[in-house]
Amino acid sequence: MSSNQWVDKVNRDQLVQVCKQLVSIPSVSGDEFEVMQFVKSWLADRDIAYIETANDPQRPNIIATIGDANAGPIIAMNGHLDVVPVSDASSWESDPFEGVVRNGRLYGRGAADMKSSVGVMLTMLDMFRNASLQGALSVHVVSDEERGANFGTKHVVAEIEAGNIPRPDFTIVGEGSGFKIRIAERGGLGVKVHFKGRASHTAVARVTGINALAKAAKGILALEHHLETFHPAVGHPVLSVNGIQAGIADNVVPGEAMIDIDRRTVPGETVESIIGDIRAKLDAVAATDPDFIYELEYDPERYTVANMTSADSPLVVAFQESLRELDREPEFFVEWAGITDARLYRGIGIDTVIMGAAGENEHGANEYIEINDIETQARIYAATISRLLGV
Ligand SMILES: [Zn+2]
Repeated sequence: MSSNQWVDKVNRDQLVQVCKQLVSIPSVSGDEFEVMQFVKSWLADRDIAYIETANDPQRPNIIATIGDANAGPIIAMNGHLDVVPVSDASSWESDPFEGVVRNGRLYGRGAADMKSSVGVMLTMLDMFRNASLQGALSVHVVSDEERGANFGTKHVVAEIEAGNIPRPDFTIVGEGSGFKIRIAERGGLGVKVHFKGRASHTAVARVTGINALAKAAKGILALEHHLETFHPAVGHPVLSVNGIQAGIADNVVPGEAMIDIDRRTVPGETVESIIGDIRAKLDAVAATDPDFIYELEYDPERYTVANMTSADSPLVVAFQESLRELDREPEFFVEWAGITDARLYRGIGIDTVIMGAAGENEHGANEYIEINDIETQARIYAATISRLLGV
């Protein structure tokens, strides 16, 4: 028993049932229509009001709300129902598109990323729908997270900006965090480096040729290192050289070579600081090699800024208090993680925390989530919502 009556209202059987149903409706990105129909009927069966909003009616997003936005803050819970395809069905021990409960786990594509989390959010609406909330509780059940969010959260955020969807004061994104409080996310910048050499016949490679591919190799060795910068909420930035192009024929010394850098950033970095850092490393090579000639290419328009919500936000504090109440030491999530839809809410100034169970084998075979963890997530959500909405 917990001191919070709402935590004790979490119903494990109801949770498992809705999560299992969500997993049992295939919804690879682009094919979300049917699973959204299920969400709509689940809400309608419980008299929970919702609206549908979409760029493409075949790829809807459902915004369902309970409570009274005039009485206090609006909390939105965001979860995506699209999943990645199954590339190796023979490696699965059960049908990936059937929610299978086995050994206290729910197996299936999307069980961990992140249909169970959406199941938690739906049950929160059901649990709190008759409470006298001092504010409103919404879910934003979205399509298209795995492939860029244009039909999903990007659309929803644009509708918030346009005044067509109520603007949340706080958003909880249900991606996995292992019950740590994820308040920040790395950003990203793509940078190409063009190396200039001098093409020649192989026979005279050592006489007139300057091999741009060899220069690129030196550049890669100079760049491919662990970056020492550390941000307490999000860890280290990352630089990875993920592509190379060079060579036109096996008897021609390449006069040009190009590498692709994927640079993940942390708060405090800027395009200028990132580019300055890359130049410094390459210039150090150039200082020892007069034939090391390079040029950078990048598009500041395509820079995703690292983003974070203040640790002092009432949303963060509420999660910390809830975790303590549930005998868990609150910790911030500082790991090697990718980007999520949280960036889009933070991008319009909404305090956003990612909180969810960590499943296993996301995007791989035999994806699963522990049912105990689904229940724990629901208890953490229940405690936090009751705290923020004064019930
Ligand atoms: Zn996800």
